[in-house]
Amino acid sequence: MGLIPFSPPRIDDEIIAEVNAALRSGWITTGPRTKQFERELSVFNGNPSTLCLNSATAGLETMLRWFGVKEGDEVILPAYTYSATANVVMHCGAKPVLVDVNATDFNLNVDAVRKAITPATKVIMPVDFGGLPCDYSSLAELVRSTEIKSLFKSSHTEQAKLGRILILSDAAHSLGATYLGKRTGIHADATVFSFHAVKNLTTAEGGAIALNLPEPFDNEEVYRYLCILTLHGQNKDALAKMQKGNWRYDIITPGYKCNMTDLMAAIGLVELRRYAQDTLPRRKEICLRYAEGFKGQGWAQLPVLSDEHRESSYHLFPLRIQGISEEQRDRIIQRIFDADVSVNVHFIPLPMLSYYRNAGYDISTYPVAYDNFSREISLPVFYDLTAEDIHRVIETVKDAVKAEIGTAQ
Ligand SMILES: *Cc1c(COP(=O)(O)O)cnc(C)c1O
Repeated sequence: MGLIPFSPPRIDDEIIAEVNAALRSGWITTGPRTKQFERELSVFNGNPSTLCLNSATAGLETMLRWFGVKEGDEVILPAYTYSATANVVMHCGAKPVLVDVNATDFNLNVDAVRKAITPATKVIMPVDFGGLPCDYSSLAELVRSTEIKSLFKSSHTEQAKLGRILILSDAAHSLGATYLGKRTGIHADATVFSFHAVKNLTTAEGGAIALNLPEPFDNEEVYRYLCILTLHGQNKDALAKMQKGNWRYDIITPGYKCNMTDLMAAIGLVELRRYAQDTLPRRKEICLRYAEGFKGQGWAQLPVLSDEHRESSYHLFPLRIQGISEEQRDRIIQRIFDADVSVNVHFIPLPMLSYYRNAGYDISTYPVAYDNFSREISLPVFYDLTAEDIHRVIETVKDAVKAEIGTAQ
């Protein structure tokens, strides 16, 4: 019995053949495969226009920069997320305003968001934790309400054009999840996906911005501007410059450099074409087997995977153990690893990380985030996990919990 890994990527002959084809095509950076991947993502998600980049982090920062977020501005996000969500706000010189999350589904609490809004608020960044969409209807209603709109102060062209707080979804986990029967990508003004190696759909590193800006924005026009902004501010990409005689270029803004390459897109195209019919059903099956395996264990608090409004993309299976301390959770994890099963914790709340703690964020202000964290263990979910592996994970976790808390519960 070897080690069960946490979430290795699914790299098979089909992926290798497509990357080979890209290598042999003579075009390896941003080009036809990236553009094709963008078009297929737009079709998959149902939004008007999609830009692929080298990470979700770059996508989130690009949207903040596009919206003119700067020093003195505030961006509301959950205390319970990966650091990328807050770091990009820091990069822009703005202040991440952290809010607590729900005890039920780990997602940001909309009442806490409402209370955190000030005249300095420019953006709200909901995070679809584990792949389960946030309450986008309530968020949309909130930012469009007369009271909240009257607080909004615009200091940038795009801010004036929108006339309200921007909803920028961190959907790093939730590609393919549904909210009100429709996939993520159309429930926020812009939705950012991650294709990092551990995510549901990978391009090794990578990310995408699904644009879905309301009237009077022209999403295609914003897309074209973002292409320039993420490629040095250069008005022509490498492919356009390759055309015969088309050498002259201009720099219209001191842009960034975070474009996706065709090698990454080659992986993404294969991944996307099998995503809905193959990857997602497999992940769902694994999560449902876990849920079945822990049913009836008094200590097991199972994650919400779906309800009447939404269904997860099954990125994580965030199990919580009832009534344990952080130290007990850590010992349980050690026992699980000792039995050669890899697990993880999503996430260490931002206020517990050195930088954010030193910046003055205090975990005692986020009791639900701490409680979720202190009792959470994410179980392995990946395509090639076998039925025997799933069984072994369930038995290992049960044994580890029982060794820690006894069989009383
Ligand atoms: C992975 C992740 C990111 C960052 O994605 P990258 O593509 O690695 O930049 C952002 N937010 C959350 C919640 C994540 O899990």
